[in-house]
Amino acid sequence: CGMPASRCDVDHNVDWALGGHTELTNLGPLCEGHHTVRHHTDWRIEQVAGLGGAILWTSPSGRRYLVEPERAVPVFRSTESVGAPF
Ligand SMILES: [Zn+2]
Repeated sequence: CGMPASRCDVDHNVDWALGGHTELTNLGPLCEGHHTVRHHTDWRIEQVAGLGGAILWTSPSGRRYLVEPERAVPVFRSTESVGAPF
């Protein structure tokens, strides 16, 4: 939806209580409303590997919706590994 990530809950795509890790490949921002739907209805979500945080939502009837992030998660590298002159 249009809720900025800064105002969202951070959801563990695989629940922490079920062994999900607290890492980027298992986290995603959900507004309070979508977070409630995700945890209290038969909608299911999963983060799609290799798509920069895209989330695949599956409705109770099995219809699937791919939600891609507006921006990719930044990747931080040591300046030594890229040869930057600082
Ligand atoms: Zn939402």
